[in-house]
Amino acid sequence: MEAGMETGTGAIKSGFVALIGRPNVGKSTLMNHLIGQKIAITSRKPQTTRNRIQTIYNSERGQIVFLDTPGIHKAKNKLGEYMVYAAESSLKDVDAVMWLIEPGDYIGAAEQHIAKMLDRCGLPIILVINKIDKVKKEVVQSTMEAYRNITRFEDIVCVSALHSRNLEALIDSLFRVLPYGPRFFSEETITDQPMRQIASEMIREKALRSLGEEIPHGIAVVIDKMRERPDGSITDIEATIICERESHKGIIIGKNGAMLKKIGTEARKEIETMLGGKVNLKLWVKVRKDWRESDILVKNYGYDKKELRE
Ligand code: GDP
Ligand code: MG
Repeated sequence: MEAGMETGTGAIKSGFVALIGRPNVGKSTLMNHLIGQKIAITSRKPQTTRNRIQTIYNSERGQIVFLDTPGIHKAKNKLGEYMVYAAESSLKDVDAVMWLIEPGDYIGAAEQHIAKMLDRCGLPIILVINKIDKVKKEVVQSTMEAYRNITRFEDIVCVSALHSRNLEALIDSLFRVLPYGPRFFSEETITDQPMRQIASEMIREKALRSLGEEIPHGIAVVIDKMRERPDGSITDIEATIICERESHKGIIIGKNGAMLKKIGTEARKEIETMLGGKVNLKLWVKVRKDWRESDILVKNYGYDKKELRE
């Protein structure tokens, strides 16, 4: 990126920041609270090879484009490989990395794996310790001590995403490491992905989270219908969760449909926040064997209906 100026406003900074961290550490909450409003839709074409949510922070100081990575996992099959690839390759086009963790001084295998990857990438890394509202100061302190030397951090910032605590310090820290340059997106832009894609990714994430280890990566989500009612009162969404085996289908549906209901309720709430309105979400589950092994399906998982349905 070339250094740039905007006439009349002085030098501004703009850059891409990869957001990494385990599921549940608070990545979405942090994005929502940083942006402070519902996600808007733009007309820009989706980048079909990258299935990740871009959230864009704007201020008079410049623009920060956050890339939410699909997670870092040990590859078990092509989809697993793709996810590692997506996480690692997302580090190739960014200016900085924000690594989100929860308080706790235990550093597990996943954290070691992330640290090694970060060592290799040579980018400025900011460690964010989230959920500091949940623990005593000493715990936050010992977390900082434990992580301090695991890789080279440009900064360590302690926040509570949920309570919007210390988020200004985080933004300061990010602007410090970003390069000078003009904005990549217009100032009104908050995300570059179509709503359908975000909705499918939200359903997929809630499903994976509820299912835990039982169906590792083995699902895709297709949005069959997404339409706002003419009076604007509600958006009707119909989606299909696609899995590999009959037995998986049973697990996803759960006893008397309890699991599917839980996934649907959680996803609906998040989609309602995104759209800023009521949502009526209907979910189906279908079996499609071996979909994980096809590269084409993997590239399109989550949103290419034709590929998944043949
Ligand atoms: P993600 O999987 O990393 O996107 O995590 P989410 O943003 O979905 O958050 C997972 C859970 O942690 C949700 O129940 C959030 O309300 C909660 N959470 C996120 N940030 C905080 C925080 O700062 N404090 C507390 N107490 N809870 C938080
Ligand atoms: Mg999330």
